[in-house]
Amino acid sequence: MGTIDGIRRLGFRKWYERQLVESHVWLVTMVLALILTAVGYEALSVRESLLDLAYDLVAVAVGVVLSWVSFRRYAAAMTLAEHVGAQAVCPSCKRHGFKALPASESGATGRPLQLLAACRGCGHRWPIDPGS
Ligand SMILES: [Zn+2]
Repeated sequence: MGTIDGIRRLGFRKWYERQLVESHVWLVTMVLALILTAVGYEALSVRESLLDLAYDLVAVAVGVVLSWVSFRRYAAAMTLAEHVGAQAVCPSCKRHGFKALPASESGATGRPLQLLAACRGCGHRWPIDPGS
């Protein structure tokens, strides 16, 4: 589900909340992966069997890759939430939050990736850039 579809389906506030929850799940995953990396590194020893060494190396490698992937997803989800959230204030009355208009009302002729927001307070409409 893309950003625009998500906002239209859930509404801005629920979509924003889910973005923050998803990003923090990735943050927790990153911390756990860093712990796995540290444990694997701590257990590394050439004095034990080759199988133990291989097991510890796999733990370190999985921890490093998982922590990197988790960090990238955390950063991407937070960046997207910040990008859209910064546009969520009505330019007319400064009220936070908006109602996403359906694609038929967005006047998105030739621009299917456009999202038009409507203020719940004053009814002002403005475009939302969903990012890339
Ligand atoms: Zn307004």
